[in-house]
Amino acid sequence: MRKILTLAMVTVLIGFATRQNLKAAEHFDQTAKSFTIAVLPDTQFYCDTRLKLSAKWGNGDLRRYFFAQTEWVRDNQQRLNISFLVHEGDIVQADAPEEWAIAKEAMSVLDGKVRYCMCLGNHDMGFEKSDNKYGGNIGVNRTTHFNTYFPREKFAKRREFGGTFDPDRHDNSWYHFEAAGLKFIIVALEYHPRDEVLDWANRIVAEHPDHRAIVVTHAYLKGDKTRNTNKLKLKGNNGEQMWQKFVSKHRNMFMVLCGHFGGEAVLTSTGDHDNQVHQILSNYQGLNNGGESWLRYMVFQPEANQIGIYTYNPALDKFKNGPSSRFDLDYPMAPPLTAPGITQPGAANAVKKEAESPAGDDQKAVPEE
Ligand SMILES: [Zn+2]
Repeated sequence: MRKILTLAMVTVLIGFATRQNLKAAEHFDQTAKSFTIAVLPDTQFYCDTRLKLSAKWGNGDLRRYFFAQTEWVRDNQQRLNISFLVHEGDIVQADAPEEWAIAKEAMSVLDGKVRYCMCLGNHDMGFEKSDNKYGGNIGVNRTTHFNTYFPREKFAKRREFGGTFDPDRHDNSWYHFEAAGLKFIIVALEYHPRDEVLDWANRIVAEHPDHRAIVVTHAYLKGDKTRNTNKLKLKGNNGEQMWQKFVSKHRNMFMVLCGHFGGEAVLTSTGDHDNQVHQILSNYQGLNNGGESWLRYMVFQPEANQIGIYTYNPALDKFKNGPSSRFDLDYPMAPPLTAPGITQPGAANAVKKEAESPAGDDQKAVPEE
C-alpha cells in the first residue's frame, strides 16, 4: 500500500514537473525567439528650436518628444528584445547645427544600449538661404551637417557597422545584426539616392545572400500606397525608380521603411524572385505637436512567420489600434533564406501581389513633407 502510494505521488510529481517544464519552455520560446525593430519617423519638429515652426501648436520646445522616444526604446530594449532601431530621416528641420545638437543628444540615449542607423531626409540637407518659412530652401543639394554630429568614425567602431558608400561620409550606410538565429542587413540610403549609390547598394545586398535585407530611405511610398514618382531638380531616384533599379532585384529583400509623406501606408509587392517586399510608410509629423513622440515597432515572430506592427506613443502611453496602425505582415522566417520556394506565390505565407493595407483610420492626408 505504501509502495503504491509512493508510486502515485512520484507520478503526480513527475506530471507536475513536466507541466512546469513545458510552461517554462513555452515562455522561453516566446521571449527568446521574438525580437523587435523600432522605427523613428520624421523628428524634424522636435529639433526645431530655431525656426520655431512648431509654435503653431503653442507648446514651446518639443525636444522632449524625441527624448521620450529614445528613452522608451532604451528602457524597453530587454522587454521587447529590441535588436535595432532605424530613423527614417528628416531628423532635423533645416540642417542647422543647433537642431543637429538636439538630435545628437536624443539619439545618444541609445549609444551602447540599442543599435541604430539613420537616413537623411530632404530637411537634413542642401540648405540654401532664402526668404521663406524655413529661412531658406531645403534639399537643393547634398551638403549636410549630419556628418559633424553623426560622424562615420564614431559608428565605424561598432560591431554592427558594415560600411558606407563614401569612405568619409555617413550619408549612405549599411549595418548588420543577428536575431533569433536570422541574419539581417539594413541599407540606409540618402534622399532620392543617386544612381551610383543604388549601384553600391545593389552590390552590398548581392554580397550578402544569407542576410535578410531591409532598406530605409526617406521618401519612397506615399499615403495612397503608391511609390512616389516625383521628379526633382536634385539628381537622384524616386521611389518607383528605387524599386525598379534596386529593391525588386534581390531575393533576400523583404522590407522598405520610409517617412516624408504624411500618414501610414503599406504596399506589398512581388520582387523579381517572387519574394514579397513589404514597403511601409509611417510619418506622424502632421499630428499634434509635430508627432508628439508617435513611433513604430515591429515584433518579428519567427515561429509564426509574422511581423506584428505596432504604433505607440511613449509620451502619452497610448497605442493607435486602427487597421493602418496595428497589423500583421506575413514573412517566412522558418526555412533557410536560400532554400528554394521560400517566398513562392501561393505558399502559406505569401501575400497577394500588390496587396494593400486597409484604409487609413485617423490619419489626415498630409502632403509631401
Ligand atoms: Zn521629408
